[in-house]
Amino acid sequence: MGKVISIANQKGGVGKTTTAVNLSACLAYLNNRVLLVDIDPQGNATSGIGVEKGEMDQCIYDVLVDDVEASQVRTTTLVENLDAIPATIQLAGAEIELVPTISREVRLKQAIDKIKDEYDYVIIDCPPSLGLLTINSLTASDAVLIPVQCEYYALEGLSQLLNTVRLVQKHLNKQLMIEGVLLTMLDARTNLGIQVIDEVKKYFQEKVYQSIIPRNVRLSEAPSHGKPIILYDPKSRGAEVYLDLAKEVIANGERVR
Ligand code: ADP
Ligand code: MG
Repeated sequence: MGKVISIANQKGGVGKTTTAVNLSACLAYLNNRVLLVDIDPQGNATSGIGVEKGEMDQCIYDVLVDDVEASQVRTTTLVENLDAIPATIQLAGAEIELVPTISREVRLKQAIDKIKDEYDYVIIDCPPSLGLLTINSLTASDAVLIPVQCEYYALEGLSQLLNTVRLVQKHLNKQLMIEGVLLTMLDARTNLGIQVIDEVKKYFQEKVYQSIIPRNVRLSEAPSHGKPIILYDPKSRGAEVYLDLAKEVIANGERVR
């Protein structure tokens, strides 16, 4: 059965999209069938995986608001074994349009449940907020992966996120687990990075992945080429570490089963 993982943190710029795109591509590279779902109206995961927004008639908006089947909106990508459900700016309206609808929090779950068994992993890239789109994602998920940037105030705001996770567990999705906490954009030349690692490990303990994503220029260049790092520069440090992360995520799943 497909494992559904939300990549969430309401802070912007912490590496959610970079992680969603590259974890998806690495899991697919390791012979898993993967679906990447973009539910951020900015659509950065969509363009980052090389899907042309202009060429899409429909996107995740139509699934959430107009009950279009997810299977009709998904598309293949440059990466073998990796499909994607794109987002366009149209999705920006969904947060408000969904408010008066019935079962507004479970729309994504209902859509994904129908196709998740065709995949080993479904990875959802969340927007930088704790609004209805992120709630839909957490409700649809088995687990949440939280990227945390190695900077001052790294833990700031995480209590709000964890509180939202608890509310979703209580009211909408009992099964939701913390998949893991991923440290991102580590600058190995500074002591600050080491301090932040210690602080985050003290708080989240064994939930913190061994793989720590370094600051890597190739990772920041890849999206403008519409490619995940394993296609853009497979020999880069960024590619190596995201592959390691994918292996940890796979091993986590095996431990649970
Ligand atoms: P979020 O989705 O949380 O807003 P992004 O993944 O879009 O964050 O990352 C924010 C910016 O930082 C992007 O321009 C991205 O290319 C860049 N970036 C992300 N991770 C790294 C990294 N490990 N090294 C260098 N740049 C990165
Ligand atoms: Mg993003």
